[in-house]
Amino acid sequence: MTSKIFHRSLTASYPSAIGGQGCYVVTGDGRQILDGSSGAAVSCLGHGNPEVTDAIVAQAQAMSFAHTSFFTSDPAEELAKVMMEKSDGAFCRMMLLCSGSEAVESALKLARQYHVYRGQPQRIKIIGRMHSYHGNTLGALAAGNNPPRRKTYAPILSPSFHHVSRCFHAADGPDLEEQVYEDQLIAEFEAKFHELGPETIAAVIVEPVVGATLGSVPATSTYLPRLKELCHRHGALIIFDEVMCGMGRVGTYHAWQHEKLGGVAPDLQTIGKGLGAGYQPISAVLIGQGVYDTFQAGADGAQAFLSGHTYQGHAIGCAAALAVARIVHRDQLLANVVRMGDLLETTLRQQLPPIFTERGGSIRGLGLFRTVDFGHLGDAFGAKAPLAAQVAAETLAQGAAVYTCSVAVDAILFAPPYIITRAEILTLVRAFLRALDVVLQQRG
Ligand code: PLP
Repeated sequence: MTSKIFHRSLTASYPSAIGGQGCYVVTGDGRQILDGSSGAAVSCLGHGNPEVTDAIVAQAQAMSFAHTSFFTSDPAEELAKVMMEKSDGAFCRMMLLCSGSEAVESALKLARQYHVYRGQPQRIKIIGRMHSYHGNTLGALAAGNNPPRRKTYAPILSPSFHHVSRCFHAADGPDLEEQVYEDQLIAEFEAKFHELGPETIAAVIVEPVVGATLGSVPATSTYLPRLKELCHRHGALIIFDEVMCGMGRVGTYHAWQHEKLGGVAPDLQTIGKGLGAGYQPISAVLIGQGVYDTFQAGADGAQAFLSGHTYQGHAIGCAAALAVARIVHRDQLLANVVRMGDLLETTLRQQLPPIFTERGGSIRGLGLFRTVDFGHLGDAFGAKAPLAAQVAAETLAQGAAVYTCSVAVDAILFAPPYIITRAEILTLVRAFLRALDVVLQQRG
């Protein structure tokens, strides 16, 4: 039967996912696919977790939906408390939403309104970075810089958004010491502030570890604290977009808490994906005290934030996210993220064929957010032809799903569920390496 769904691809045919257990997705044609990227770094608890589904059912039976213009709910209040506890005192409020893009839109609007309340309505500009991805709605698309996704819409994207270089030491400054490379990037930010007029900048938005476009590229070690200092010196806010890299994906609850990323919190932070672990669509903006105080002082109480979405704070989503957070904590899953992430990287390093390193291939990332970058391996057999999409398709045929990063790199992202076992890591690597071998043989 022809599908009546308007799929992203009009030509691909998609197998039906009919079930899931642990790290595996079950398809209608009887296959069990090892979820090597948790979809797009979403399903951090894997599939079919009975505690999460029980929490969803219990909440649905008790109270499914009550509009946030009139009501709050116990799971929403409890979830906000848990998030504050996990944030080292960095935030004092949480705004609930449904998707990462919605969270980014809201963070940008909060930043704008913060300045209006402070009597600086001229602060209308946002600075993002090349090859970052912040979502697909028009504001989020404007803030990010994922060229293929922006191209068609560029003429209708707001001219208030500007971009500076990405932070990708291994690709853009391999011959420079990290500190020298970082100095250049911070100087570029400073120059951009002055070019645009520092008094016109509302906020800077960055992914602490760039995900979808580049494949788990962490910021250099003092980049984030220095950027925050620069923003504050010029009166602008800093927003971390942790929709993909947050919620434990890199081994700490927030990516900025990782010792390699500087340990400094932003003014506003977006989270999503792993928050609901795919059991429910839920995202949020975490709000720092300074921003909250400004809203308290400047706003007309009843109409503090001039924004809102019908399904924000949905009680079933909050109940799911609360169950996810409790399981991650109780089962000490972040320790497993660190252990299995290290095993994944070590195994890949040991088993990738010599031609991989000879052609400039590399492995990067933190925790269970690890990327195999093929470097120039795709050029090895004549015409320049990226490998990632072909290898991902073949890996799927071999029984594992992995994520393709092909915007500005030729790379495969691994982001398996936090519950993955040693044996499953080895199965995942085996499927990937078999796939790479098949593709290289076809090309050779
Ligand atoms: N921000 C980042 C860093 C993302 O990786 C994504 C999605 O991949 C988004 C925002 C948008 O999230 P969503 O697809 O849930 O709207």
